[in-house]
Amino acid sequence: MKELILVGGGHAHIQVLHALQFSEHQVTLISDVPLAPYSGMLPGHLAGNFTEEELLFDLKKICARFKYYFIQETVLKVDAEKQLVTLSGGKTIRFDICSLNVGILPRTIPPEAESPHVIYVKPISNFLEKWRSSLQDIGDEGKILVVGGGAAAFELAVACGTRFPSRVTLITGEQGLTLPRGANKQGRRALQNLGVELIEGQKVDKIEDGKLWQGSTMRSFAVTLIAITARPTELIGKSGLPKSSEGHVLVDDFLRVKGSSVMFAAGDCAHFLTRDLPKAGVYAVRQGPVLAQNILSALKDSRNLKRYVPQKTTLSLLITGQEEALFCWRGLAIRGRTPWILKRWIDRRFMRKFS
Ligand SMILES: Cc1cc2nc3c(=O)[nH]c(=O)nc-3n(C[C@H](O)[C@H](O)[C@H](O)COP(=O)(O)OP(=O)(O)OC[C@H]3O[C@@H](n4cnc5c(N)ncnc54)[C@H](O)[C@@H]3O)c2cc1C
Repeated sequence: MKELILVGGGHAHIQVLHALQFSEHQVTLISDVPLAPYSGMLPGHLAGNFTEEELLFDLKKICARFKYYFIQETVLKVDAEKQLVTLSGGKTIRFDICSLNVGILPRTIPPEAESPHVIYVKPISNFLEKWRSSLQDIGDEGKILVVGGGAAAFELAVACGTRFPSRVTLITGEQGLTLPRGANKQGRRALQNLGVELIEGQKVDKIEDGKLWQGSTMRSFAVTLIAITARPTELIGKSGLPKSSEGHVLVDDFLRVKGSSVMFAAGDCAHFLTRDLPKAGVYAVRQGPVLAQNILSALKDSRNLKRYVPQKTTLSLLITGQEEALFCWRGLAIRGRTPWILKRWIDRRFMRKFS
C-alpha cells in the first residue's frame, strides 16, 4: 500500500478523490479549509441564484465516505526529494506520491493588508465568510467597488449589480475590460443595464479602508472586492520546486512536476513547460481525470501515463443579470436566458457528480 498525499481541495483533486475510491492505496487530503467552493457558481450565489450549500464541496465528508484521511491544515512546504510535506503545525508527513492543486492568490494593491472593507476574492474558500459579514456594511445604501478587468471581476460586478442595482462600480485598471474574444461589447451593455458604473483604463493607486485613491482623488465604498491578476501561493515559493518566471510550478504534459516522478500539480498553481494556459477553472476541471489516471499509474509504478491536451477553444458562460448569461465561444457572444439555463445545468451537473 502506497501513500498518496493530495494538497488542496481544488477542482482537479475533487475528481481525483472520486476516481481513486476503489484503489488500495492510502489517500490523505490536506486542505486549509474543510469546504471548497466551486468557482463557477460563486457569482450566481452572490446574485442570489444558489444557496451557499449548493456551491460547496464538503471535503471532510467526501474523504469520510471513501475512507481517506482528511487533515485540515495549511501545507507550508513540500520536499520532492525527501518526499515529505511540512504542515503549519510543524508536523511532517512522508509520501510516495504527492499532488498539488492549491490554486493562486491575487496580487495585492497597497496597502497590502485586507480590512473589513477590502476583500480579496482569492482564495475563494475564505471569501464567502468575509462577504457574509460585509453585507451588514453594505446595508440599504452602501456602495460596492469591484477591482479587476477579467471575467471573474466582471461576473462579481454583475452579481453585486443584480442584488444592489445602481450601487456598484467596476474599475478595470489600465488594460480595460478583458472578457473572452467578442464579448466586451455585450458585457458593457449588461453592466449598463444593471446601473454598474464602469471605469476603464485607469490605474488604482491605493485602496485603504474602503477608500479608493486615484492620484489625489478619493471615493468611499462600503465594500471593495478585489479580483486582479494572480500570484502563486506561499507554499510554491517555499518548496524549492521548479518554477515559471511568475513562480508557478512547472509541469510536463503528464502533469508531473518537472524532473520529478513522484510529484504532480494541476489547476491554477501549475504552469506547463510546453504552453501558456490562462488561469481558469475550465482547465483545472479537464485536468482532473488525466491527473487521476496518472496518479494511479504512478502508484502502481507504471509508465502508462496519459497526456493532457487542453481544449483548443473554451466555452465561457458569464452571468450578465438575473437569470441571464453571456455565451462566449470562438468570438461569438450571445446574451440571454438560454445561456443562463445552460450554465446552471453544467454547474449543477458538476456539483451533483462530485460533491
Ligand atoms: C468570482 C470568480 C468566478 C470565476 N468563474 C469562473 C468560471 O466561470 N469559469 C472558469 O473557468 N473559471 C472561473 N474562475 C477562475 C477559477 O476560480 C479558478 O481558475 C479555479 O478556481 C482554479 O481551480 P484550482 O483547482 O486550481 O484551485 P482552487 O479552486 O483555487 O482550489 C485550491 C484549494 O487549495 C487550498 N489551498 C491553497 N493553499 C493551500 C495550502 N498551502 N495547504 C492546503 N490547502 C491549500 C485552497 O484553500 C483551495 O481550497 C472564477 C474565479 C473567480 C474569483
